[in-house]
Amino acid sequence: MNKNLTEDQQAVKELLEQGASIREAARVVLERSSKESTIRYWVANGLLGTPSTAVTKTHLPKVLVFDLETSPLKSYTWGLWQQNVGLNMIESEWFILSYAAKWLGSAEDEVMYKDLRGIVSKEDDTIILDDMWKLLDEADLVITQNGKKFDVKKINARFVMNGYKPPSPYKHIDTLQIAKAVFGFTSNRLEWMTDKLCVKYKKQKHANFSGFDLWAAMMKDNIEAWDECCTYNTYDVLSLEELYLKIAAWDNKHPNFNLYSEEEKHTCRCGSHRVVEDGFAYTGVSKFQQYRCIDCGAHTRGRINLFTKGKTKSLHMNIG
Ligand SMILES: [Zn+2]
Repeated sequence: MNKNLTEDQQAVKELLEQGASIREAARVVLERSSKESTIRYWVANGLLGTPSTAVTKTHLPKVLVFDLETSPLKSYTWGLWQQNVGLNMIESEWFILSYAAKWLGSAEDEVMYKDLRGIVSKEDDTIILDDMWKLLDEADLVITQNGKKFDVKKINARFVMNGYKPPSPYKHIDTLQIAKAVFGFTSNRLEWMTDKLCVKYKKQKHANFSGFDLWAAMMKDNIEAWDECCTYNTYDVLSLEELYLKIAAWDNKHPNFNLYSEEEKHTCRCGSHRVVEDGFAYTGVSKFQQYRCIDCGAHTRGRINLFTKGKTKSLHMNIG
């Protein structure tokens, strides 16, 4: 037992070492999950003596997990039901209210977050665009839930409208597309999938502001609404990362992480190096060694054709 730690800190430290999340530790030891920020402060300031609860996997490519919250459009309407809002009825454009992002494999306390608290009335999201542009420019790949249709298009729209040049290209892994392609879930929403599949982090519901109330309050610069947005947005990213690690092994169109480092040993999409030989893979007229990741179960294959010249010569193919 470390004598410099309080009893609470020692208990939290032990729970985190056993794999509990910061929120769980807050609930168990401090008896309120809203005390989460206290523990985050302890962790971030090294008060628990352990640098982090997760192992940073430096051999991974730069994979950015991120999520945006956007403002509503302000517009005039003549009523409530089936309104058709013309472009000349728009009072002001939407913009980005907040972002949360983390590098895949980084520690829980390394989630990046920014919002427009204090300046939302200016309707100027430049501070968010600056951060996001740098992150996207640095990323080799990004992971989002529905980001192909929403987040990336929204941020691109804000970039070009504000005079930014395109960030360096990145590959995009969208968990919604994996879910649609591979699984027949009852729902492909992040809330449903993280509830059923994730153990450590699940998408949060709004605690104090229900539905649109949260957005209305943020637009009025309500500090409690921003705090709730921070927790909500952060959990979207933490639960999305966990969801990705659960379903990535099933994605047979997954980008190859090995292209992004000079290392000559195989790195799985989950970050593991531990692969074993597991049967063979066949394509057209070739046979390859197949491998399986011990940690996530993803299959890959080698690139050398194992058939002899004689065998290759003897093979027939279907016509058409
Ligand atoms: Zn793996």
